[in-house]
Amino acid sequence: MIDVQRLRVVIRGVVQGVGFRPFVYKLAHSLGLKGWVINSSQGVFIEVEGEKELLNSFLVRVEKDKPIHAYIQSLESSFLDVVGFESFEIRKSEDKGEKTALILPDIATCPECLKEVFDPNNRRYLYPFTNCTLCGPRYTIIKSLPYDRPNTSMHQFPMCPDCLKEYEDPNDRRFHAQPNACPVCGPHIFTCKSDGTIITKHQEAIQTVSDSLLQGKIVAVKGIGGFHLMVDAGNSNAVFELRTRKRRNEKPFAIMMSSLEAIKAECEVDALEERLLQSSESPVVLLNRRTGIDSSGLVEEIAPRNPTVGIMLPYTPLHHILMKTVKIPMVATSGNLSDEPICIDNEEALKRLGTIADVFLLHNRPIIRHVDDSLVRMMAGREMVIRRARGYAPLPITVPKKRKAALAVGAHQKNTIAFQIGNNVILSQHVGDLETEQAYDAFEKSIDSLKMLYEVKPEWVVCDHHPGYLSTKYAQECGLPLKEIQHHHAHIAACMAENQLSGEVLGISWDGTGAGWDDTIWGGEFLVGNEMKMERFTWLRCFRLPGSSQAVKEPRRSALGVLYEVFGADLFEMTDLLPVAAFDTGELKLIKQMMTKEFNSPLTSSAGRLFDAVSSIIGIRQVASFEGQGAMELEFEIGKNRCNDYYSFTQSDQIDWSPMIKEIVEDWSRGIARAVISQKFHNTLVEMIVAVAMTLKIERVLLSGGCFQNRYLTEHAIFRLKEEGFKPYWHQRVPPNDGNIALGQLYACGDT
Ligand code: ZN
Ligand code: ZN
Ligand code: FE
Repeated sequence: MIDVQRLRVVIRGVVQGVGFRPFVYKLAHSLGLKGWVINSSQGVFIEVEGEKELLNSFLVRVEKDKPIHAYIQSLESSFLDVVGFESFEIRKSEDKGEKTALILPDIATCPECLKEVFDPNNRRYLYPFTNCTLCGPRYTIIKSLPYDRPNTSMHQFPMCPDCLKEYEDPNDRRFHAQPNACPVCGPHIFTCKSDGTIITKHQEAIQTVSDSLLQGKIVAVKGIGGFHLMVDAGNSNAVFELRTRKRRNEKPFAIMMSSLEAIKAECEVDALEERLLQSSESPVVLLNRRTGIDSSGLVEEIAPRNPTVGIMLPYTPLHHILMKTVKIPMVATSGNLSDEPICIDNEEALKRLGTIADVFLLHNRPIIRHVDDSLVRMMAGREMVIRRARGYAPLPITVPKKRKAALAVGAHQKNTIAFQIGNNVILSQHVGDLETEQAYDAFEKSIDSLKMLYEVKPEWVVCDHHPGYLSTKYAQECGLPLKEIQHHHAHIAACMAENQLSGEVLGISWDGTGAGWDDTIWGGEFLVGNEMKMERFTWLRCFRLPGSSQAVKEPRRSALGVLYEVFGADLFEMTDLLPVAAFDTGELKLIKQMMTKEFNSPLTSSAGRLFDAVSSIIGIRQVASFEGQGAMELEFEIGKNRCNDYYSFTQSDQIDWSPMIKEIVEDWSRGIARAVISQKFHNTLVEMIVAVAMTLKIERVLLSGGCFQNRYLTEHAIFRLKEEGFKPYWHQRVPPNDGNIALGQLYACGDT
């Protein structure tokens, strides 16, 4: 079967007046691709159709082989439905539609700047704030528009005559480069202790940090959009110490490595992943670790029992200089305590990170807004952005429908907010879980700053149906006409928006929790309808969550809820079952009361919790150190196992998984390998999706919600749906998790 797809690419940067369109034309022709290219005030838009393999080559070569004077600051690609182009054409530039002022994200250091930074004869030799019009900070330094130096955090650094000359010369690479700076006039780095006492300055500071890191110390490094906590990724004790101090037990840490070659030695990297790692966005890319290598520079503690690892390359001169000095992989995790937003301010960092870091590497350029590292992985041969922040935010996402200016406040966890202006949705960077005061503060700041930067006056506000979300409360109190969109409806609408769909679809919306229209917690939903109106067609059988939110961190609680549906109150005597054995008698008695008397044990259809339950039943995880850990480890358990079997389930008004749970308990007691049980469980969920699709016979099936970060589940669902003649859609530019809710809320509102 030939796999023909349509690829849409939006490129921003120096792509006008440099022969870019003729280059795209030739490239498309040489690959035999049909479609078009167009210039607009928003960048170069390309659509090409052809075989997936050829589209992959196009994606890699459009960047690699680009005209000599072109420079790509942002490249976002999506695969969409085929429309059937007959030739390739250069379309006439037209500037219709809204002129949304375009604020660029922060752009990784360009090769020219990099050359200067490492040239001993250059006046910017080893200068950590080197940048030019092609690269450097943008979104994190802008206070207000227009984007001119006085409106940025560079205003306090008047340019020296040399820099000013570059800035004013139209033939210079730094013509109107707002953050232009040099060692004479620009910002500087220094190191200090947590009490603020300065240790070293300038280049000596790098040596101090490098020495500290190599001695196993923890260093807080102020970067472009916030602080990193860095530590030697090859030193178990140091990584363990960071985990203890940061109170982050097992959640994987991101790693920074000095070169692509170094990454390739540790991980499997394909051409598209290589492109992503080296792109101007420079995200953390989730890669599969190589198995069977002799020695690894990465210790187990960076991501315990995890066959994948998130890696990025240095993306500012400061990181380049530092990585060249230390030469070994570094943990580079966001500088915060668990659940709090990333630190951006020197004083604040000394206070909040004082008990974590041994040494601070600071600089005197303020960060205007926090922007975390983005996280991207490949999913079914396409990019999937799991956390959308640096390099991507606040670039607009084009949606099929125009509407009056509106604000969407998103969900509670992994919050993002969004504004719609015409056809464009400006989605904020990842804000985080609105659990702490700091996070709520960051949420309000994101709304205010995007409102100001885009001069948008929202006429509407849209929020989640959950009355307890702080984002919902904000929406209720902001004085604008309010619309509520159910959480899972918003997930599916987001998936429709980015895949440019409208009309009838079947939406599979699976996640941890969302408030349903009835009194239960939804999370295993099969929705039918169009973007504006969706009905709950069916759902995964409900079960009780003893201890309510406590169950999020304790898979064994979900397990008891699930097993209670199967065995009733007898369950509490079945002490050979691992989830039962995982509690002491007192706790068990209390939980039995909760379940039988139906208090503090809400009903849920959550697919996420069902994953947790199975993870507990087969002894993978009873208590988690972060949400979704049980589910994640259950996925990893499959490893290289290959079987197509699945368990039984029945389909009536609900999808009943109880036959599957019985069989899992049997398999487990017979000593069947956990890899096999896990795989059969995943396969069963896929077959549930296929079964509902077959019942409804709706061609377009969408996969959204945090569960679809699970690669096995998503890729197999896609494969099986295609096999049965359906058209599956999933996420690419926005995350499948609650980071997509704000986008979905806007799209679900229609064009009112
Ligand atoms: Zn540059
Ligand atoms: Zn200067
Ligand atoms: Fe969700």
